[in-house]
Amino acid sequence: MAELVLQANKERSVTRRHPWIFAGSVASVRGRAKPGDTVDVLSEREKFLGRAAFSPHSQIRARIWSFDADESIDHAFFKRRVAASVARRNGHPSLVGQQGVRLIHGESDGLPGVIADRYGSVVVVQLTSAGAEKWRDAIVTALVQATGCACVFERSDSEVRSLEGLEPRLGVVYGILPGEQLVIMENGIQMEVDVERGHKTGFYLDQRDNRRLTAELAKGRSVLNCFCYTAGFSLQALAGGATNVLSIDSSGPALDAARRNLDRNPSLNASAASWWEADVFEALRQLCAERRRFDLVILDPPKFAPSAAHAQRAARAYKDINLHGFRLLNPGGILMSYSCSGGIGAELFQSIVAGAALDASVDARIIHRLSAAPDHPIGLAVPEGEYLKGLACQVGY
Ligand code: SAH
Repeated sequence: MAELVLQANKERSVTRRHPWIFAGSVASVRGRAKPGDTVDVLSEREKFLGRAAFSPHSQIRARIWSFDADESIDHAFFKRRVAASVARRNGHPSLVGQQGVRLIHGESDGLPGVIADRYGSVVVVQLTSAGAEKWRDAIVTALVQATGCACVFERSDSEVRSLEGLEPRLGVVYGILPGEQLVIMENGIQMEVDVERGHKTGFYLDQRDNRRLTAELAKGRSVLNCFCYTAGFSLQALAGGATNVLSIDSSGPALDAARRNLDRNPSLNASAASWWEADVFEALRQLCAERRRFDLVILDPPKFAPSAAHAQRAARAYKDINLHGFRLLNPGGILMSYSCSGGIGAELFQSIVAGAALDASVDARIIHRLSAAPDHPIGLAVPEGEYLKGLACQVGY
């Protein structure tokens, strides 16, 4: 096995169990290693630190699979890690009985570069690192064994793969994809999931618990849902007793799916729902100009800042939508505002929202701090795994 030797005093993060070795920390690679091959990571003084997947094309030069010198990286390793990750979800009360669950959340589940989401009988897997790519068969086999699923579909079309020198891969890797539309029940609402063309692996599972909270808060309120995608928040708001829900998205196909989802749930008051295909930045200005008002405004935009380098521009975009969101609230109204940008930390996000409230001249307070559902854990050793944060802020009467 090849060895990757760190520079002097560069082992601190590894000894704190952070799994990433950056290119700038590497002194040398001894022996031959191809992309994805397993290498031993050694300190400058030759102390074993971890067993890692080598990524010669990435700034993250290696990702540690195991910190245990006695653990081999083989099929049995993936069987153990995948089974443990699935078992942790099985034990969580809010995940029991859910048809849509994230089974593996990358680094935070000890499997860097591996995402797996279950939608009923189908598991969608996304492999984003050279190491995960190398062990595709072991990971897929382990997922089938741990879940008994009928199909594993690969959605390795995330842009981050190019940083690892990997081509996109998309298609069935086990079993047969059901011919009919895949539908999951979430908090009592039927939602279609397009595993082939939908965003991420087809659905935003991370917002499950926040959608339930939306249902609780929506009773008797008029709702504006910005960046609605397939109407997850909109339908929960209707289920919770919203008087009307206006949903905005710039994607026609997303709004088509949203309408189909509404039809799929006949218990909802369909006449209370309206849809608007528009750019949210412009739509919010128009609504403000028309002096429209709502009791609950939801802002769940796409990732404006994939990394800290984009933070400044992203901060302006967040400020803009939150400012207009606050302006559109009736007295006593609630803004539910999210950021899924890894490059915007929770503190920065709160200060952006606070600045927006100030500029909108509203008196607001945080009533809920929101995060991703528990099937998207944050490894304590990998705090940058915390990407989704939200604030529910209520304005004064
Ligand atoms: N809230 C959704 C997920 C939102 S994903 C859920 O719970 O499932 C972000 C959405 O924003 C996508 O549907 C995308 O089409 C839309 N979008 C991105 N930029 C936009 C813009 N400028 N205006 C309107 N919609 C936009």
